[in-house]
Amino acid sequence: MIAKETVISHKWQKRFIDLARFWAQFMTCDRAHVGAVIVRDKRVIASGYGGAPSGSHTCDQVGHAIFKGHCVRTVHAEMNAIAQAARFGPSVDGCDIYCTLMPCWNCAKMISAVGIARVYYEDVYHPEEWDFYKPLYENLKTLFIRLESPPETTGAAK
Ligand SMILES: [Zn+2]
Ligand SMILES: [Zn+2]
Repeated sequence: MIAKETVISHKWQKRFIDLARFWAQFMTCDRAHVGAVIVRDKRVIASGYGGAPSGSHTCDQVGHAIFKGHCVRTVHAEMNAIAQAARFGPSVDGCDIYCTLMPCWNCAKMISAVGIARVYYEDVYHPEEWDFYKPLYENLKTLFIRLESPPETTGAAK
């Protein structure tokens, strides 16, 4: 069971998931559009979207690289946000991450390994596989919190 007492206000959740959605539109693999922002003390310290490693070919340029049913060309949004922090310096230990899609298991492990405390996400990743993965996610120290009713993307913040 996820502890809810650490959940920040709806107003701030809306701001950060809006930013994650903003970055999602730039994803260079059109099989998904996913964005992520890493937040400390209500400040964004890194952000990312799904795409090929900087300087290499993108799916938009040369097509997908499909292996076993997945496009393997892209660095996922969450990984790119962590990579940005690694590249430019801020520690992500104890931070929150906002994701437009629930992190896949590889990203979830990395998010936990770098010390990110909480994940706020909108949509479930491959719900048909959830029976298998649920105990693995629940065993991580990181909390995964679904934004049950996604905040409006427009209108005045409350
Ligand atoms: Zn692709
Ligand atoms: Zn992932």
